[in-house]
Amino acid sequence: MRDIRHFIDGAAFDGASGRFADVFDPNTGEVQARVQLATTGEVDRAVQAAQNAFDGWASTNPQRRARVMFDFKRLVEARMDELAELLSSEHGKVIADSKGDIQRGLEVIEFACGIPHALKGEYTQGAGPGIDVYSMRQPLGVVAGITPFNFPGMIPMWMFGVAIAVGNTFVLKPSERDPSLPVRLAELMLEAGAPNGVLNVVHGDKTAVDAILTHPLVHAVSFVGSSDIAHYVYQTGAANHKRVQAMGGAKNHGIVLPDADMDQVIKDLAGAAYGSAGERCMALPVVVPVGKKTADELRERMVAEIPSMRVGVSTDAGAHYGPVVTAQHRDRIAGWIEKGVQEGAELVVDGRDFSLQGHEKGYFIGPSLFDHVKPEMSSYQEEIFGPVLQIVRAETFEEALALPSNHQYGNGVAIFTQNGRAARDFAARVNVGMVGINVPIPVPVAYHTFGGWKRSAFGDINQHGMEGVRFWTKTKTVTARWPDSALEHSDSSFVIPTMR
Ligand code: NAD
Repeated sequence: MRDIRHFIDGAAFDGASGRFADVFDPNTGEVQARVQLATTGEVDRAVQAAQNAFDGWASTNPQRRARVMFDFKRLVEARMDELAELLSSEHGKVIADSKGDIQRGLEVIEFACGIPHALKGEYTQGAGPGIDVYSMRQPLGVVAGITPFNFPGMIPMWMFGVAIAVGNTFVLKPSERDPSLPVRLAELMLEAGAPNGVLNVVHGDKTAVDAILTHPLVHAVSFVGSSDIAHYVYQTGAANHKRVQAMGGAKNHGIVLPDADMDQVIKDLAGAAYGSAGERCMALPVVVPVGKKTADELRERMVAEIPSMRVGVSTDAGAHYGPVVTAQHRDRIAGWIEKGVQEGAELVVDGRDFSLQGHEKGYFIGPSLFDHVKPEMSSYQEEIFGPVLQIVRAETFEEALALPSNHQYGNGVAIFTQNGRAARDFAARVNVGMVGINVPIPVPVAYHTFGGWKRSAFGDINQHGMEGVRFWTKTKTVTARWPDSALEHSDSSFVIPTMR
């Protein structure tokens, strides 16, 4: 059995906890490797390696740090095929989608290539008599990222791309379900010129997460995963004096107004609801057609579209999506479908019985479609995270607007319409963090920022872009004067200085 090891201080590190998690091949259902689960002491070792690397890396000039990012990008691009295959083999998403996962992460690395510009502080000459004020952004020290299974390339790069470029050193605790790609990325960062200890990877479960959250040398933690754990990470990290951003689950709605281009809507919905087997935090698992005519047409056309979808192994270039990540997750999705039926929603297409010939033990599940889903149903309120699309019918624009606005999650939302005024009004009023207008998966580009609202994100600052730079740095502001001691001495002042 192949062991997946930690990567600490520039080298593979064999953990001694004696605890492992199985890493499956979702296409076959076989265990293909086991990943070591770190002890508290092993996490400490990674943090110490990062601490030892910090002074040297933080004092490396930003342009040289940026050059490491340029080289990292080149190395990842040169190995794209191999890395995408590795990702797919543990996650189950199709290869083209794995390339997209890595590419979206690389776009954050591209942003980080411009870090010298982003790090420039502010300066005011003559803020008072002979007084200048300037600010600088300084790295925090050792920082950490804890990431989910569904984007093992993009999400680690969202975090370490910016964190390292601004001068921090990093400990990454990736998902134990698809841990190999993050290790390869750390190896490539070393090859790109980042010194030993700048990017470390420790595998693990709650023990490793708690060790990070309570370690006195870890100054900031970025988390992405499910909401209950995000909330726990946010609370525990804050209680231990850390800066924390913790992104959680989602239940994104697509609002379809009667004037929408229905041909495009059906194509967009198919990809956004079922792509990557629905295992995306920006998937579109709820569609809200406005008016009966829109709803009936949408349902009919979706029913006609679903049979054209091909579910296949990750390496099948013609497959639209592959297996889900584990048998446990497949069963959980099937459980939610059953729950939807019990709650009285109409199961129009049932994907539960799908089986791929020759891969009967793989974690495949066909596309499912529900109609007449109601806001009070738990299958609507909770995240299913599978290839299940729920139609929630609304009579009016206001009713449609209220659904995502009142939902516990507020990650992304989309509106499909040809009416610019309605779209503008929707974007301004909806209580959700990321909005798409005729864009089904509105993941902002790397130089903007990513972050949901409500239970989709705890903390107050987004991932990547300039918000990422702010999250991973602290601001120091200097007020300076250089009086000529031969000419001027000011008297002691016992009142707060003001600029009158
Ligand atoms: P998860 O919450 O199970 O795991 C996320 C991380 O937390 C992993 O590294 C895992 O090892 C760790 N973890 C698991 N149990 C823990 C515990 N009890 N205590 C401490 N740490 C623990 O999430 P997942 O299943 O890997 O990922 C899917 C979830 O992530 C979905 O809810 C999805 O919506 C969400 N997600 C959100 C975003 C976003 O930006 N909002 C992006 C991607 C995924």
